[in-house]
Order: sequence, then structure tokens, then C-alpha cells
Amino acid sequence: MSLAWVDGEIMPAQEATVTLLCHGLHYGTAVFEGIRAYATPRGPALFRLDDHLDRLLDSARLYALEIPYSRDELRAATHELVARSGLASCYVRPIAFPVSADGTMRVCPLGASTTVAIAVWEWGAYLGEAGKRDGIRAKVSSWQRISEESLLPAAKAAGHYLNSVLASVEAQRAGYEEAILLDSTGHVSEGAAENVFVVRDGRIATPTLCNAILDGITRQSTIAIARDLGLEVAERNVGRHELYIADEVFVTGTAAELTPVREVDDRVVGDGRPGPVTLRLQSALDDALHGRTERWAHWSEPVAAGALEVPAP
Ligand code: PMP
Repeated sequence: MSLAWVDGEIMPAQEATVTLLCHGLHYGTAVFEGIRAYATPRGPALFRLDDHLDRLLDSARLYALEIPYSRDELRAATHELVARSGLASCYVRPIAFPVSADGTMRVCPLGASTTVAIAVWEWGAYLGEAGKRDGIRAKVSSWQRISEESLLPAAKAAGHYLNSVLASVEAQRAGYEEAILLDSTGHVSEGAAENVFVVRDGRIATPTLCNAILDGITRQSTIAIARDLGLEVAERNVGRHELYIADEVFVTGTAAELTPVREVDDRVVGDGRPGPVTLRLQSALDDALHGRTERWAHWSEPVAAGALEVPAP
């Protein structure tokens, strides 16, 4: 069942509420994560939990938000919650946001207290089972990806997602499944909620951390797996034209996992079917996510309840 942990207390997710005078709600200052637990041969296991929690703490630091829990405390809370939910596999959403202590709602959050919550629920393939199998149709967005001139794209912050909302609404209204955004220099940045890869002549390329992307954990896993298989992966500027002449294009994300892209801007990618590199990486990543490979077993953390006491702040 869907459960939430809110500052040390576990409750049904529908019963977890926030106050109206919540800084995170008014100004988009929440930072959050998206994590998955998979059914594995060792029981439900969280995929790269520590890496996600580190990114949450980094996101908070980037926006000067204090999180009153250590990574170990957040890890213990996550384990406890997933164990109590009884779900064999689920999506896990930690979120932290300032709540103004004095109710004045001033914009500067310094001095506000931070609420930390974690919710778990069941969530299938983000871009659909058919999308994962056959590939999706993507559109290069008319919206530019947020840039470091005004925000910190490396953080996973609620306010950033207005940019993703504009792009995905535009793409879906035009009949595509996902948007691909360019950065302020015109290079490929990322999807509305995924990182992007192109493959040409067997060589893989993906935008760099300086192309305004979120440093996706699935992106990191995919790069590590590809290199381990002896494939070449370059992190470099990727031009829009490369999306049109690539043999293969795919996107990665915790929610989307590894999803092939079969068309970009109505141009068919390769022969319109997921290509050999995409299929090989998709299957290797799926094995890692489901704890089926010894090689990547350290990414998969079997869920254990009662591992640590979580003190109230
Ligand atoms: N970029 C954006 C904007 C995202 O929302 C996500 C999903 N968290 C990603 C990339 C992929 O990141 P990850 O693989 O860590 O889920």
C-alpha cells in the first residue's frame, strides 16, 4: 500500500498533508528524489539508494536548504517504509521543503524549518510498456532547458519542473510522447524527465554535466555498463543534428528506465526499431535493476526493516 514517512512518523500516503503556508508550495523550493525498489532474487531491493540520497543532500545544499537528517537516517527511514508497505516493487519519493517558521511567507527561506517526507507507491513504466518495447516519438522542444544563469540545473528541485511541464505539455499536445530540450547554447540537454543518448557507428554520446542536465543515476549506470561491455561512451556536446542522423537514440531515467526513441521531430531514427546497442544496454540495465547480475550487485540494496532507529528531529 502507498505509505508516507513524515519527519519520523509513518502513515497512509493519503493522510500525509502539508500546511498551506508552506514555502515549498508557494515558491517551488522543495528538493526531491525518485528512486525505485525492484523485486529481486534477494527480495525487494532499492537501486542505488545512497547515490540518490547523496543527490538529495546535494540538491538541498545547492539551494541552501538544511536537511535535519543524515544520509544514514534517511536510508533507514526508506528501508522501513518500503518494508512496511509490503510492496514487492515500488517508486520511492523523498522530498524536503522549507516551512516558514513565522508564517510570514517571506521569499528568503533562511531560518525556515525543513519538513522531510518520503512516499512510496506502485508505478509502472513511465513512458509505457509499449514505449519501452518499441520506442517513443520525441519532439525537440521550443522551450530551452533552464540554465545556470538563473537556476541550478544540477539540483533536483520542484521549481525546475515548470520547465519540464511546459516542454512535456507542448510535446504531448502535438502528439509526441516526450520532449527533448536544448540548452542555452543550442546543444542537446535532456528530456523533460530523462537523460538522452545518441549512438552512431557503434559509438555512444551523451551531453555533459555542463549542458544543464540533471546528473541522472540511470545515466551513470548506463555509462558504467556500456564501458564495462567495451562500448565507447563520450560525454560531450551533442548537436541537435545528431538526433536526426543517429543510428539509435534512447533516454534513461529512474521512472523511464532505458527507453528507445524511434522518432525525433517526425524523422525516423535508424530503421524505426530499437537498435542493437539500445537493446543490449536495455537488457543489461534491466538485469542490474532487478539484481540479476553479480557484477552490479552492489547497486542493489535488499530492503531490511528495523536496521536503524530514526530519531525525531
Ligand atoms: N533529468 C531530469 C530532468 C529528470 O527529472 C530525471 C529523473 N529523475 C532524469 C534526468 C534522470 O535521472 P535519474 O536517472 O537519476 O532518475
